[in-house]
Amino acid sequence: VAKGRGRGGIEFFESTMHATALRRVRLADELRAAITDGQLQMRYQSIVELGSGRIAGVEALVRWQHPVRGLLTPDQFISVAEDTGLVVPLDGWVLETAIAQVAKWRSTVLGGSDFGMHVNISPLELRSPAFADDVLERLGRHRAAPGDLVLEVTETQLLGEDAQTALALEKLRAAGVGVAIDDFGSGYSSIGYMRRQSVDTIKIDRSLITDLDTDPQQLRVAAAILGLVEAFGLTAVAEGVETPAQAARLHALGCRYGQGFLWGRPVRTRTMSDHLRARAHAARAGR
Ligand code: C2E
Ligand code: MG
Ligand code: MG
Ligand code: MG
Repeated sequence: VAKGRGRGGIEFFESTMHATALRRVRLADELRAAITDGQLQMRYQSIVELGSGRIAGVEALVRWQHPVRGLLTPDQFISVAEDTGLVVPLDGWVLETAIAQVAKWRSTVLGGSDFGMHVNISPLELRSPAFADDVLERLGRHRAAPGDLVLEVTETQLLGEDAQTALALEKLRAAGVGVAIDDFGSGYSSIGYMRRQSVDTIKIDRSLITDLDTDPQQLRVAAAILGLVEAFGLTAVAEGVETPAQAARLHALGCRYGQGFLWGRPVRTRTMSDHLRARAHAARAGR
């Protein structure tokens, strides 16, 4: 293809590559400053118990309020953060904020009900020897219950699971922290992870949920995964649930929890606080 275009084509390609590299370097510089300047924001999306409609937890999802480009979602900066190691301070900020928030909700709106604050963890972090102690230190400092925290790790992260990662997960699980496999079914899904007891929750990827109510094969795949989840004594959360029909199918198949636009998009802290408070009042009034 480049042959016909001659030298100009190659130069164009190189300058495009150069521009992309420059853009990433600049984004990394901006992100470094953003983490310390308070440009990161948190959104929370509810995780709902399918049988009762109760909010059983939330997932913390980071946003970057960029001074020029506006509100950025993780797909616009996480890969740069991972390549530059900035994902460690970034996830540190997210962990700190989420743990402080769940401790606050526990003492105000949650009462004694079961609740899980889900936080996404990057692979870099999981391989750091200090990670488990860092999480436990943050929990202790905020007087948050380890059982109120669930760390989400992706299959790809567990794929190269080394001794260090296994040790960290074991230590956290022993302290009562939950561990979920995120985006299950989107990559190299392995029964090994389910069996090894290093995780307690499986989040079924959105790609397996989308066609659930129209494609009989998708339905059988979801049923098979939920069968494995049950066989290993794990808990399932379906991601990306957008229609009541999907929710009904999942519930019928024995999936306990769901997350998706059907119940709400990720919202600001204040909005989620109001939502949780309203739910608590309704529960007390027996509604
Ligand atoms: P994830 O952990 O799988 O998070 C779920 C993503 O799906 C979120 O996108 C959420 O807004 C979106 N989503 C939820 N329900 C629906 C639905 O019904 N339909 C559709 N189409 N989408 C839905 P978001 O917030 O853009 O995050 C994208 C990914 O970025 C996350 O995927 C997670 O892997 C990563 N991420 C988010 N926050 C953090 C963080 O604090 N640290 C790290 N390391 N990664 C993060
Ligand atoms: Mg996640
Ligand atoms: Mg996910
Ligand atoms: Mg997913």
